[in-house]
Amino acid sequence: MRGYTMTSAMEIYQLLPKTNCKECGESTCMAFGVALLSGTKRFTECPPLMKEEKYRDSKQKLEEILKPLEGAEETGLIIHEELCSGCGNCVVACPVNVANDPHGSGRGLGPTNGKVIFRVIDGKVKAANVKECRRFGKDKILCRACIDPCPTEAIEFV
Ligand code: SF4
Ligand code: SF4
Ligand code: SF4
Repeated sequence: MRGYTMTSAMEIYQLLPKTNCKECGESTCMAFGVALLSGTKRFTECPPLMKEEKYRDSKQKLEEILKPLEGAEETGLIIHEELCSGCGNCVVACPVNVANDPHGSGRGLGPTNGKVIFRVIDGKVKAANVKECRRFGKDKILCRACIDPCPTEAIEFV
């Protein structure tokens, strides 16, 4: 699994129809949720979600949750949320956080905008805007700035 945790897999599952109809090609909605998070499926591949009006709000929420994770598959980012102590070292060490939010995250303060990769929410680090990571794209650099200062090895790129 890449760039997410089982907590978010459950969050995704709650927004799916939960009928296990298999139209998406997966055996259960939970399996489809895991595939969404790993980037191997898109939510548009769940026909009931796309067609049925009663799922409109869920579809919108899924879009909001999954968008920040775009890019996690390519970079291979995994956050082991259960290991994260929320110390914030990665937040201040990530050069993207520093460049995009020099007066907030880059100084160890709360983010002042939505362009950061790492932020700590309720004592656990969360990633977004993963396409901004230096490990993303054709000119990628194997940056380790978030990995090395993490005291608990909660960040991994696979
Ligand atoms: S098509 Fe949608 S409702 Fe059916 S199993 Fe897949 S995720 Fe669940
Ligand atoms: S690898 Fe570098 S650019 Fe990417 S999230 Fe970690 S610190 Fe930021
Ligand atoms: S450095 Fe490690 S423990 Fe600290 S907030 Fe980041 S992921 Fe969590």
